[in-house]
Amino acid sequence: MLAKKSEKRATVTGAGGFIGHHLVKHLKNQGFWVRGVDIKKPEFEPSPADEFIVADLRELAVCRRAVKGVEDVYQLAADMGGIGYITSNFASLTRNNILINANMLEAAHQEEVGRYLFTSSACIYPSFLQSDENVAPLKEKDAIPADPERGYGWEKLFAEQLVQYYRVDYGLDARIGRFHNIYGPLGTYDGGREKAPAAICRKVAEAQLGSEIRVWGDGEQTRTFCYVDDCVEGLTRLMDSGFTEPVNLGTDELVSVNQLVDVVCEIAGKPLKKQHDTSKPQGVRGRNSDNSLLRRILGWEPKTSLREGLSVTYPWIWQQLNQQGRAQPPAPLGVRQESGVRVRA
Ligand code: NAD
Repeated sequence: MLAKKSEKRATVTGAGGFIGHHLVKHLKNQGFWVRGVDIKKPEFEPSPADEFIVADLRELAVCRRAVKGVEDVYQLAADMGGIGYITSNFASLTRNNILINANMLEAAHQEEVGRYLFTSSACIYPSFLQSDENVAPLKEKDAIPADPERGYGWEKLFAEQLVQYYRVDYGLDARIGRFHNIYGPLGTYDGGREKAPAAICRKVAEAQLGSEIRVWGDGEQTRTFCYVDDCVEGLTRLMDSGFTEPVNLGTDELVSVNQLVDVVCEIAGKPLKKQHDTSKPQGVRGRNSDNSLLRRILGWEPKTSLREGLSVTYPWIWQQLNQQGRAQPPAPLGVRQESGVRVRA
């Protein structure tokens, strides 16, 4: 479908993925004409994008097609997954993401796009600042001197630098958002690429009342988690801000993984025991986001509490598993009428 002259046009790469799909919906609600690009279409519902290109962004020619004729580019495409995935695919993941980011920047430069937003990650922060559960919140300037997550973090940090070089040398009007653990419905919850909140929701949903679930590490590692609606709102606000340096995009509600499990169990109405598996990777010991810059630049920060966000995410994952005959009762509130599963009195 062609854009009307009055419509603003945006490209979202990674539009077949979790955050990209939510961002396409958000931009459509804001009245944009949207082109989505990805090697796959969204898994759980059709994309509302006006045009959807299924192609490989490791190719420069594909990147040029992706950004042609649009004012705004949101670069979300990446080979990524949870801690298990990113710590067992260093070479292929890093190479894929180098190619995507180098070619997307060059395409944006050649096609003279108006504004460009790169989605980076809290994995760029040095591990030596994250060795304690009671970690000091990470400020943007803490990134260098560098000691990021191997593979994925190094690539994101270098891609941030490359974005800045394109801004300085070619005048690319660029933004950089550093995400801190985004979660919500319509995200991967199975298969190895899922992240902690989705993995825990799945384990709880599949567990029988009173049984136990396996938790990676001793569960005392800490993180913050940001609900996806806040994330996509933050992205469009960041694009409009005109701010060109990296900005954290997350919450500062620090919880341990054990606490995360407890919140999911409460929402599920299932008390479960935890069996800790310390042979599994757990990432850095503690990670929190310092949101001072975000507040100052945007006059805004994510608002959804972890409990509120999981109260939407858990029922969605439970329902997905229920359709495959994998969910164990009780059905969570919100899906009880439609699920057909018998609920405890
Ligand atoms: P996702 O895996 O759901 O989405 C990424 C999408 O990129 C996928 O749909 C994938 O098919 C696509 N992609 C991968 N290689 C491609 C290629 N060669 N050509 C075209 N498309 C390709 O991940 P997400 O959670 O939606 O993450 C979006 C962005 O945010 C990524 O850049 C990710 O690194 C970043 N990020 C996410 C989080 C998080 O907590 N989810 C945290 C930090 C950073």
